[in-house]
Amino acid sequence: MATNVSTMIDADHIAQRVRELGAEITRDYAGRSLVLVCVLKGSFVFTSDLARQIDLPMRVEFLGVRSYGEGTKSSGVVQITHDLTKPVEGDDVLIVEDIVDTGLTIAHLLDLLRTRKPASVKVCALLHKPARTRIQVPIDYLGFTIEDKFVVGYGLDWAERYRNLPFIGLVESGS
Ligand code: 5GP
Repeated sequence: MATNVSTMIDADHIAQRVRELGAEITRDYAGRSLVLVCVLKGSFVFTSDLARQIDLPMRVEFLGVRSYGEGTKSSGVVQITHDLTKPVEGDDVLIVEDIVDTGLTIAHLLDLLRTRKPASVKVCALLHKPARTRIQVPIDYLGFTIEDKFVVGYGLDWAERYRNLPFIGLVESGS
């Protein structure tokens, strides 16, 4: 499958890191009112694996986001295409994001969710590309730091393709 994509982080390493993040979150949120906010579409695979590694009563909400940009570049202008279905006032919200690139999307989502008066809002990101930071955002739980390359797989797309790859990879040029 997808021989034109080279592996950057294989499925076993992702699974191991997701287990570790789940254990940390389970420890930190014990006795609290946890709501995972899955940022669609890219975080759907990460959220479903992470949720199953959290051993606590919790809810999952989905936030549909469309980020306007040119090609593979984010502009930070974010349109909400699907909003939370229930209020999160008084809850401990954990935003689950596939990748923090410039930081503009997460900065916007933090501002938005804080207006909903949760008890707390934190960020869990699978990937971070520090080389491209335009705005510093707190990443409270982080899977992997990666170099400045456009990655696909494990929920991440390139023109809607590759989301179903079980690993994080790089599209070979010419494909
Ligand atoms: P930011 O606002 O932090 O620049 O961008 C965040 C969003 O841009 C991510 O949620 C993701 O949708 C997209 N993005 C940033 N870098 C990559 C990448 O390397 N691969 C893919 N597929 N999407 C990316």
